[in-house]
Amino acid sequence: MLPLRKNIAEMAGYVPGFQPQEDGWIKLNTNENPYPPSAKVREAIIAELGAEGESLRKYPDAASKEARAVAARLYKVDPEWVIMANGSDELLNNLIRAFAGEGEEVGYIHPSYSYYATLTEIQGAKIRTFGLTDDFKIADFPERYEGKLFFLTSPNAPLGFIFDNAYIEELAQRCAGVLVVDEAYVDFADSSAMQLVKKHENIVVTRTFSKSYSLAGMRLGLAVARPEVIAALDKIRDHYHLDRLALVAATAALEDQEQLRLNVDRVCNVRDCFSNELRKLGYEVIPSHGNFVFAVPSDRDGKRVYDALFERKILVRYFSDPLLKHGLRITIGTREEMMKIKEALTEIG
Ligand code: PMP
Repeated sequence: MLPLRKNIAEMAGYVPGFQPQEDGWIKLNTNENPYPPSAKVREAIIAELGAEGESLRKYPDAASKEARAVAARLYKVDPEWVIMANGSDELLNNLIRAFAGEGEEVGYIHPSYSYYATLTEIQGAKIRTFGLTDDFKIADFPERYEGKLFFLTSPNAPLGFIFDNAYIEELAQRCAGVLVVDEAYVDFADSSAMQLVKKHENIVVTRTFSKSYSLAGMRLGLAVARPEVIAALDKIRDHYHLDRLALVAATAALEDQEQLRLNVDRVCNVRDCFSNELRKLGYEVIPSHGNFVFAVPSDRDGKRVYDALFERKILVRYFSDPLLKHGLRITIGTREEMMKIKEALTEIG
């Protein structure tokens, strides 16, 4: 027998969303952005590559200096408060590695991002989940939470609601350990906890480029936190974790905030129209602050609807969890894609 660690042998492993590689699908299952990234990203990648790809010969800047400086300006912090990452998943992983030793506790809300559980299991740390009250607060959260880390997904995925900053500050005060505010979807919302990092030493904010910047395929994320936290994350990461093309893409994307706003406004307009259409079709829809909506059909049989959509080559995400009322999470695609899914849902009934 090979000496595989017990927790690795026993864990199931994460199953990522279905990513069909052939054309012909309307793909609304993993919250990608339906529009292309800023043209400046493409230009920066081509320029970096050079006519013969010669830049690829050399290692990238291990410290991501330029991208960090641009992000720091954007978020009004010093560069040592910022770290870039290979997707925000890398940050979630390294935060657990930095703060939660074997057997120590990591908390998060169920339902939220299920990858927290996988990462905690790999580390051999202990998972503790909390439910939600009807008004979207954390149920039974202790006056003093002693876990090493707590992941707060805000806006929440898959439900789409957001925690307000007053509540996030209260949670930060009640957490003895680190409060990670996972803001993967925050560009589609109208509030953010980003500036709270200056006020509360235990708040870390993580962001992704996979949703609002249309760069899921580049694998980019960032975190903002106190320099002690960033320095710890810098020790842990692979030294060349971001390739040259990803680095210039990150810088160009962050610099083009105008394009970001246009992209996000378009997605939010389509989201709000589509949410109303779903309500007219009898779905229960939670007001969304992300680039997706969570919807429960009136017969609470999301699987029936999922299967009927799948037959029509429309992919959404179905949750068998009774806590989620067997609902569906539907990513916001283009206006045309949402017209098609609406027609299909009308037909399916
Ligand atoms: N956090 C949440 C809540 C997410 O939904 C996702 C992606 N599905 C991530 C983090 C990870 O994003 P990335 O693509 O940057 O790794």
